[in-house]
Amino acid sequence: MTRIVVLGSGFGALATVRALRRRLPDAEITVIAPSDHLVLYPGLVGVAVGEQHAGTTRVNLGEFFDRQRVNYVRASVQGLVRSGRTVLTDVGEIENDVLVIATGAGKMTSPVGIEHTLSICSSPETAEEIHRRVRRLRRGTIACGFGGNPAEPAGARGGPVLELLLSLDADLRRRGVRDEVELVFFSPASNPGERLGSAAVRRVMGVMTRRGIRAHFGHRLQGFDEGRVITDGGDVVADLVVYVPGLTGPSWAHSSDLPLSPGGFIRADRGCRVLGHPGVYVVGDAGAYEGVEDWMPKQGHAAELQGVTAAANIASELAGRARRRAFRQELVCVLDGMDSAVMVYRSRHASLAIPGRCWRRVKRALEARERRRYGR
Ligand SMILES: Cc1cc2nc3c(=O)[nH]c(=O)nc-3n(C[C@H](O)[C@H](O)[C@H](O)COP(=O)(O)OP(=O)(O)OC[C@H]3O[C@@H](n4cnc5c(N)ncnc54)[C@H](O)[C@@H]3O)c2cc1C
Repeated sequence: MTRIVVLGSGFGALATVRALRRRLPDAEITVIAPSDHLVLYPGLVGVAVGEQHAGTTRVNLGEFFDRQRVNYVRASVQGLVRSGRTVLTDVGEIENDVLVIATGAGKMTSPVGIEHTLSICSSPETAEEIHRRVRRLRRGTIACGFGGNPAEPAGARGGPVLELLLSLDADLRRRGVRDEVELVFFSPASNPGERLGSAAVRRVMGVMTRRGIRAHFGHRLQGFDEGRVITDGGDVVADLVVYVPGLTGPSWAHSSDLPLSPGGFIRADRGCRVLGHPGVYVVGDAGAYEGVEDWMPKQGHAAELQGVTAAANIASELAGRARRRAFRQELVCVLDGMDSAVMVYRSRHASLAIPGRCWRRVKRALEARERRRYGR
């Protein structure tokens, strides 16, 4: 029986498992991850503004693993040897015939002083802490921003920050304290969010300006201090600083001979095959994929497309078929600002930003689908 090992239990890993089981009913599938819970990251902004409880953003995967006949190993990967055939973990070594890496991205640790900030992209508990801090604030300043990875433009996650700012604006208005609380959006980029496409950026920035969200753009971040964002264009003094660090590859990958991109991500082709490593695949945020458009995002949607592609190619390879698939290049997201929303779509042929409150319902329905798919 073919032993397939999947590293991680996020969107990329789980989409891979589902597609693998459909194609290879008899394969032995093992998932190695530190937790058997899926975090529904798109719900974290809702937690930060008190629309959702942290508990609703965490899905127990026990029954999904049973249904898919997955052996779950609670462990953290520490490295690979024998060209990926042996996985080193904190509970011992695990062998495989095929390996799928889906451990997500790592976080940049610069600039200095990140410990004085809270990230909306970290965990449901941190999102709750943001909510508590916002609720306590009756006057003052909230500064929100995101950084990048200087070695790799794809190493940035700005969408949740845009959503958070619009949602905070709506929440503060509802509570009648918006006039007393200033919102500041800081970014070292002079045109943050441009990977969403020019139509989307124009629309979102237009909304921010109309809502009085102050922009502090184009100034290099030097660090953070308690209540202070330090940039080479002056400091932003704030009662609460929300900052999403730039993304890099998984740190454990440095203890392997995997090929890494300048930004530290695992290099693969568009069939998700890791370069020069037969039988080793990467899906989701951990990968740097050859031949993709500059705007291709690190997104749950992309991770799922990559998982399905990797599974198809694994099945082809095991069957000795020559046909190989490449994943579709596509960006789809809903920026939900509580009392407004915009659906952003980008492909090689189109770049759209369509506003409408209905997108809020679509987003909630998609979250509910993920809960059903992976939960009880
Ligand atoms: C606040 C927020 C909102 C978002 N909104 C959207 C959205 O609306 N639409 C969208 O498409 N995308 C969205 N995203 C992006 C999306 O969540 C990610 O792109 C997606 O989760 C990437 O999936 P992944 O499987 O590659 O990695 P992850 O989801 O990060 O999963 C990585 C997995 O690997 C495990 N792992 C980590 N280290 C190890 C190790 N050493 N050993 C074993 N396992 C390990 C983790 O525990 C986890 O299970 C959002 C992200 C955030 C943070």
